[in-house]
Amino acid sequence: MPSNSLLHFITKIIKFEGFRATNYHFITENELLIQLENKSSRATCPHCHKITDKVHQSHPYRVRDIPLSTWDVFLLVDRRQFKCKKCHKVFSEELSFVKKRRTYTKRLAEKVVKEVLETDVKNTGERNRMTSAEIETILKELEQDLLTEKPKDLKKLGIDEITHLKGGKNYAAVLVDLDKRKPIAPLEKR
Ligand SMILES: [Zn+2]
Repeated sequence: MPSNSLLHFITKIIKFEGFRATNYHFITENELLIQLENKSSRATCPHCHKITDKVHQSHPYRVRDIPLSTWDVFLLVDRRQFKCKKCHKVFSEELSFVKKRRTYTKRLAEKVVKEVLETDVKNTGERNRMTSAEIETILKELEQDLLTEKPKDLKKLGIDEITHLKGGKNYAAVLVDLDKRKPIAPLEKR
């Protein structure tokens, strides 16, 4: 494990709840990989809520994060699967910084949505060193999440027209939190 000022700096910018940066390396001249590890050796079973420390196996899980200067940043965590001592079910540990089955961090998705609303898909891609297709994937998956995961929250959402949202495929409306009047996500025209 390198103990130097760059790792110290990386530790400062990686502030995900429950995780710490343990190592980094440059995969290519413009790709930085940061290794993370969960600070806790235990996890709570989502089925019976019993705390367990019995690791079943682990798999590397890689996600994209907000770019740093001219580097694309990827986070790598050896994601553990636990086996519950009480109900014997196997479950994967929660990653506080990424939504289930996503390949990018929550904070990257938030940044992308904000920038698409302020500018457009092409510009947002350039700022985040991503292709327009990658930006659209984030928008599409966020839309799915909003429509399927949290039906209770939908009553808070309204749809405002966007007339000049350029780039991308016909994003004609935006989900808005009506309480805060804050845009949440663009919606694709149907
Ligand atoms: Zn259990």
